[in-house]
Amino acid sequence: MENRARELREIVKRTNEEVNKANEKSDRARNELRDYERRCQHEYSKTIYDPIYTSAYTIPGDKPGTMGVDWRGPTYVSAKTEPRWKRTCTRCGLEQITTRAKDSITKIPDFGEGAGRW
Ligand SMILES: [Zn+2]
Repeated sequence: MENRARELREIVKRTNEEVNKANEKSDRARNELRDYERRCQHEYSKTIYDPIYTSAYTIPGDKPGTMGVDWRGPTYVSAKTEPRWKRTCTRCGLEQITTRAKDSITKIPDFGEGAGRW
């Protein structure tokens, strides 16, 4: 085998071993962190409202000149904002993200039309 080829093979072999070692270390740390998070008595920071904004865009329609009854022109899709919330545990750093929310109904006193007349 020529010198340069042997050198390159050795570099590939050695760096692969380094990558494998680093991956194993990363996997172990990830598992340990998962256990840590599981045992943690989470204390969450203030919930942050962090909506996902998608700007408006246009779906290009069929090329002009293409014939047929099912020809479709461009379609405009308006911008939308999807609510999302985030909170982070101040102890272990676990970040929770959700787009789910429950509706809350607030009771407002209603004295009716005749309020103050009685
Ligand atoms: Zn925690």
